[in-house]
Amino acid sequence: MISRNPNIANLKAGYLFPEISRRRREFAAAHPSDIRIISLGVGNTTEPILPHICTGLAEGARRLGTVEGYSGYQDEGLLELREKISEVFYGKKFGADEVFISDGAKCDIGRLQMLFGPGTKAAVQDPSYPVYVDGSVLIGAAGAWEGAGYRGVVYLPCTAENGYFPDLSPVPANSLIYFCSPNNPTGAVSSREQLSELVKTTLKKGCVIVFDAAYSEFIRDPSLPKSIFEIDGAEQCAIEVQSFSKPAGFTGVRLGWSIVPKALKYADGESVNADWARLSGTIFNGASNIAQAGALAALDPEGLKEIRRLTDFYLRNARSIKDALQELGVSSIGGDNSPYIWARFPGRDSWDVFAEILEKCRIVTTPGAGFGPSGQSFIRFSAFGCRADIEEACERLKILKFR
Ligand code: PLP
Repeated sequence: MISRNPNIANLKAGYLFPEISRRRREFAAAHPSDIRIISLGVGNTTEPILPHICTGLAEGARRLGTVEGYSGYQDEGLLELREKISEVFYGKKFGADEVFISDGAKCDIGRLQMLFGPGTKAAVQDPSYPVYVDGSVLIGAAGAWEGAGYRGVVYLPCTAENGYFPDLSPVPANSLIYFCSPNNPTGAVSSREQLSELVKTTLKKGCVIVFDAAYSEFIRDPSLPKSIFEIDGAEQCAIEVQSFSKPAGFTGVRLGWSIVPKALKYADGESVNADWARLSGTIFNGASNIAQAGALAALDPEGLKEIRRLTDFYLRNARSIKDALQELGVSSIGGDNSPYIWARFPGRDSWDVFAEILEKCRIVTTPGAGFGPSGQSFIRFSAFGCRADIEEACERLKILKFR
């Protein structure tokens, strides 16, 4: 019989969110006639796509039914959209051939690892979005699981003590650094000085940063960078992955992009951009043309106003959750420039706190330990939810006693 890919066998049992769903199902089955469970757990969007952007999607579909408007494969994406992304997000700093349209940031994060292969170590913020580590496992770069982490992954603790920005000295030379700001799960946003330090270290150590900016549109503080390419030198050492999922409600539509600068080179001087074009052309046939029509609408002035409205809505939810936690005496970060609130329960196991909140309030959260060893004793609250659910959840939280 054919053998199983040992890298799949090496994945630690249970991806975090299926495990949460399993526990939620078990709880619901044990309490059949109970009040409704509210989820503040996952990062899935809940609000409808706003009208202008939705019209862009509908119009994109309608055009496909006409002779003049029909289009087929678009490979790296519609030229007009690639140019628009460069203009709106990067001040035209990048050519269209440095902007690659994708079916979402997560998909690109998974595919990008192929550029570097199993011999390249990964350094990740700890805690971090699971695909960085799991993707490294799948490509065979993570090594064996040992205690609380993989041998081939360097975990960079982001804690209250270091202001959720890691000490970069353990980053191995010539490694891939995954960095997410605004961060999922902590909600922390790195400052210009911190990202400058990251770029400086990356250049010095011959590394590449995969910078995940999926939540940049939630940033309200104008002093905080929305892109790694606001930092000098980043074009020589960074790839940025981005997404329409959270700002435009495209979690189900599926559209994102990656910036792979031409200035980014491997040790032998070969072009990472050229390889990415080659690799994408081989295993990815481009994002949906309908989704791209929606994205074009999202980036015109009316669409950008809708992005602002939608992200403001979720940030208001975040404010309510933060206030409710503060009333309980629970300290938290995030929620101001990001849709996640990272709440601290000193001395507690985060799965125990998860169980307590589910048991007493019928609210699903995400245990911080699921995002990495430094997530222990934290709970992530997500602000993605309809207003009525958030208000109800905040009321229910009042019965908890953590002081
Ligand atoms: N990056 C981060 C940090 C995320 O939290 C998520 C989704 O939750 C994604 C990427 C996935 O984005 P997409 O829907 O574009 O695949």
